Amino acid sequence: SSRSCSKAALQRGRMRLSLQEHLWAFYHERVNISPEEQQAARHAALDICAELRAFLHTKVPDMQLRDMYLSGSLYHDLQVVSADHAQLMVPLILEKSLWSFIPGEETIMNVPGFWLVRRENLEYFPRGCSYWDRCLIGGYLSPKSVLEAFEKLATGCMNWPAIGSVLGYVVRPAVPSHAAALTLSLEVQYDAERRLHVDFLPLLVSEDGVSLVGRPHRERENLWRQSFWSAETTKLLALDRDDDGCRCVCLKIAKAVCKLNPALTPLNASHLASAVLLLSESERDWSREALAERFTQLIRALVGHLEAGRLPCALDPKVNLLCELTPREVDELGYTLYCSLSDPESLLRT
Ligand code: GDP
Repeated sequence: SSRSCSKAALQRGRMRLSLQEHLWAFYHERVNISPEEQQAARHAALDICAELRAFLHTKVPDMQLRDMYLSGSLYHDLQVVSADHAQLMVPLILEKSLWSFIPGEETIMNVPGFWLVRRENLEYFPRGCSYWDRCLIGGYLSPKSVLEAFEKLATGCMNWPAIGSVLGYVVRPAVPSHAAALTLSLEVQYDAERRLHVDFLPLLVSEDGVSLVGRPHRERENLWRQSFWSAETTKLLALDRDDDGCRCVCLKIAKAVCKLNPALTPLNASHLASAVLLLSESERDWSREALAERFTQLIRALVGHLEAGRLPCALDPKVNLLCELTPREVDELGYTLYCSLSDPESLLRT
């Protein structure tokens, strides 16, 4: 029996080895983006950012904004499959005395991870005292209304065909991929085969350092989304730097699997990044040799989170990152991943 036992161990070892090889091959062939492609995309994004900045400075000089900047996975080698999107961060300036940030759990909606931004002191500083009063809905700053204001400018006032022809691109405001999503983005075709989406992302930063982004809650459009993106990204990169680990490789493979597999698209970068960070708390060995084991564990952990209906944000456990998905979506994701557990390689056959 010791012989059959070692045979089984050997077989298991072989399976692991081959998953390991498959993962690295998939990573190099499908997931990772060449530095040249990343560079070209960043270059196009920067051109667009410069045009918008110049336009806003001259056409709406009173708009209360800090300098816009580009951000996202494209800037940390965390983008996967193709260099096709970047976020244009648009920081709004809010007067401290006129606005307050109310955490979602202190509202009747009771959703941690989302915030209301309330206009204060209306009796002494009536509507109109703050530039952003034009985006008030029911006494609260509405992320939807802020996006609409930018949409008017970016689509109605800017001559993108002319700007595009000067830059050598085709630029057009993009239609949101699903009707319910409140997003504003520009599609930039910067060479024959390559397209980049530049998404506007309004940003608010409270006095206590809480960052909120204008990507409203799926159903409650008045709520701003708390952003853990910077802190999460910084943490992941730092952990990998310290032990020469493969957390980011593991994350990128998972992101690619979800990007390429339509049944898994509801799982986004923040779900996956938190799952990797949570796994990092219990698993110490993230050497390259451990990739297959960690990847399999990641999938198993996701199945567990989906079964429980709860995936805590790694940086703030009271935030449930699954709270915007419907029970049906959660079930289907869980089922798809559960089925892959017996054959994780199936996830790479896309
Ligand atoms: P990817 O889009 O899957 O490659 O992953 P990213 O890491 O680039 O995540 C981008 C998503 O995070 C976008 O949908 C943003 O709306 C959202 N997000 C939330 N907060 C931030 C932030 O502070 N910066 C950026 N760049 N994105 C943020």
